[in-house]
Amino acid sequence: DKVNKALEDDRCFWSFEYFPPKTEPGVMNLYDRIERMCDLGPLFIDVTWRWGGKSSDLTLELCSVSQTVYGVEANMHMTCTNTNFSLIKNALEKAKDNGVQNILALRGDLPDGTVEFDPSVGEFKYATDLVRYIRQTYGSYFCISVAGYPEGCLGPEDIDRDIEYLKAKQDAGADLVITQLFYDVDNFLRWVDKCRKAGITIPILPGIMPIQNYGGFKRMTDLCRIKVPEEIWDRLEPIKDDDQAIKDYGIEVAASMIKQMQSAGVRGFHFYTVNLERSTRMVLEKLGFVPSVNEVRPLPWNPSLSEKRA
Ligand code: FAD
Repeated sequence: DKVNKALEDDRCFWSFEYFPPKTEPGVMNLYDRIERMCDLGPLFIDVTWRWGGKSSDLTLELCSVSQTVYGVEANMHMTCTNTNFSLIKNALEKAKDNGVQNILALRGDLPDGTVEFDPSVGEFKYATDLVRYIRQTYGSYFCISVAGYPEGCLGPEDIDRDIEYLKAKQDAGADLVITQLFYDVDNFLRWVDKCRKAGITIPILPGIMPIQNYGGFKRMTDLCRIKVPEEIWDRLEPIKDDDQAIKDYGIEVAASMIKQMQSAGVRGFHFYTVNLERSTRMVLEKLGFVPSVNEVRPLPWNPSLSEKRA
């Protein structure tokens, strides 16, 4: 609803993705960061999901605490393959009991070394199955988002088939698409056009990941098979050992991608923060979406005094 309202008002908005840290101090740091980043006015935050251990419980806890303590709406990721149905049912019930009303319904990656879905390990084969189950069981209680792949989940040669499957997720009850990260804006805009022509009418939020360091960027884009324009590699190569220069360039790239999308009418932007604050903040500042930390702004309770934002 919030996304549709922002789109109706034709105003830009943004959301932030986080993942559950592995250690207790990491969790405390993330809470501090989420709280500070709420100052940046995200429309909602997302928390990723992994079955096993305490990870999925922590995802729910991060969502629930962010909503009740920091007042920001949370979108909880949930994967469905190779998982017992009762665990999925239980997790959805817990989400509802904790006031979480947004689920990003995903298939999840198949276990390492597996290329085929194993029906003996769970009933859900595709994200569509989870979307359908949530919609049929909970009616309109949950807002359901799904993943979209501007460069294809199956690979570029199967993009049309992939779009058909995305349409099936909408038909099963999905309300919103959040895309895989990408760096080729023209390709994203062409893909959105194709989705619209295929009858996908729900909002599509592009996934933006500001580049943080050379090694991590290379690994991530290789792993997710993301095409990186030559020009970006050319700019990264001479600065690859200078982390600060890479981060600064990453901010420049993300801001210029958003500007290009904004000119094409895109209004919502989903940031893969990798639990970091600075790059996302700097991109939003660079675009003028939020005031700069150094900006002197009047205090509302005494306009004659001003204070630097902490
Ligand atoms: P699906 O939509 O089910 O698609 C999976 C594959 O099956 C695709 O190749 C698709 O083309 C094909 N397919 C779909 N429907 C059919 C059909 N009816 N018949 C035949 N083939 C079909 N992973 C995590 O583990 N945790 C997370 O928190 C997480 N968050 C993510 C967030 C976003 C925004 C994105 C883009 C990905 C995320 N992932 C996460 C990764 C995701 O789980 C994997 O990319 C996974 O391999 C695909 O999930 P999906 O929901 O897109 O699957």
